[in-house]
Amino acid sequence: MTLYLKDATFLDWQNLAIKRTDLAVAEGSQGDISFPTTLPSDDSMAPQDRVIECTGKLVTKSFGCGHHHIYSTLARGMPAPRKIPANFTEILQYVWWHIDKRLDLEMIEASALASAIYCAKNGVTFVIDHHASPLAIKDSLSAIAQAFDRVGIAHMLCYEISDRDGEGPREEGLAETDNFLAAGHQGHVGLHASFTVGDELLRKAVALAKKHDSGLHVHVAEDRADQEDALAKYGKRVVERLVQADALELKKSILAHCIHLSDREKEMLRESGVWVVQNVESNQNNNVGLTGYAPLTDNVMLGTDGMHCDMLRSAQAAFLVGQATEGIGFDGIYQRFRNVHRYAREFGARGDGDNNLVILDYDAPTELTADNFLGHFVYGLDARHVETVICQGRAIVENRRVTTVDEGEVLAFAREMGKKLWGKM
Ligand SMILES: [Zn+2]
Repeated sequence: MTLYLKDATFLDWQNLAIKRTDLAVAEGSQGDISFPTTLPSDDSMAPQDRVIECTGKLVTKSFGCGHHHIYSTLARGMPAPRKIPANFTEILQYVWWHIDKRLDLEMIEASALASAIYCAKNGVTFVIDHHASPLAIKDSLSAIAQAFDRVGIAHMLCYEISDRDGEGPREEGLAETDNFLAAGHQGHVGLHASFTVGDELLRKAVALAKKHDSGLHVHVAEDRADQEDALAKYGKRVVERLVQADALELKKSILAHCIHLSDREKEMLRESGVWVVQNVESNQNNNVGLTGYAPLTDNVMLGTDGMHCDMLRSAQAAFLVGQATEGIGFDGIYQRFRNVHRYAREFGARGDGDNNLVILDYDAPTELTADNFLGHFVYGLDARHVETVICQGRAIVENRRVTTVDEGEVLAFAREMGKKLWGKM
């Protein structure tokens, strides 16, 4: 099947060149786009081929998220915790670990479907997720994969394994990861964070990641408590611990947050070449601190940390925070916003090819050119401009409605599952 985009204003996401053109978008996990000089006539098109009129519309590569948690979807509007958390560790204890232990497979499916709808409608077509449901681990990753596939969002998943609930859930987490990756799914070996992961688990996780030619996906120094715990228990800092366990030899590894690092840790990280994800909105929400990422590495992606599914919003938040922490420029934040595609390409991830596109109905009050696009990116573009979204050559959103599933049904299912979850809390 080929989708033809007629008379688009096409913005090349890499060099920001803008041209008015027709596009031919091929279907498939690594499908291509081309720029035909003329569109085929109605008679010469294959039965499944379609033309989408794009006059006056801005067309560019769709977006990706470097660190997400679908498990937080049903938390929106939930009752207050029985104790108001006083610090980050208590936020985990009284909020997130209270929720994730009550998730079952049905709730996970609802969370993933609703989250995938929001991603789709925000133009986010490639999602790297980090999942936890300690009492429903088995088949949780395939449930999320199926939900994302139904909506049409490409994904790299993992289960956040830890020692926080003892040996049973830890071994189940390893088994679920092993089975999921052995079945040919792309993903990571997920770990919660240094302070919930003992040495034996860390060793096993690194070995499992090596076995599947993958990497770890782990929260690192999100709060000072993670460093204090590592120093008290192991006599070393978090990144030193990961280095000594060979975790940073795995180039696919993703370290989320990395807020409280020493200069030596920053050096180690830079030398390793692994990837870091910045999630400033979540960091402000949890009041864990902020850092400038330029001294750490160039391999910085942006994530939502499960706060929402809107990467334009994350980029704009990271830009504003970056003014205070590192004086980041338009080009710097745009690079970080787009680095998720570099990551996907570097490791041959499926589902983030050139045939992932957004059609934006961007009502700019001023001229948009290759030279000033980044100003529009930071101050103008937002999710309300996303009109049509193409993932792997399929239009999964058209005229702001998801085409692949019934949005109303999914959200009704999510609300039912939300009630069930809250009833258990
Ligand atoms: Zn996270």
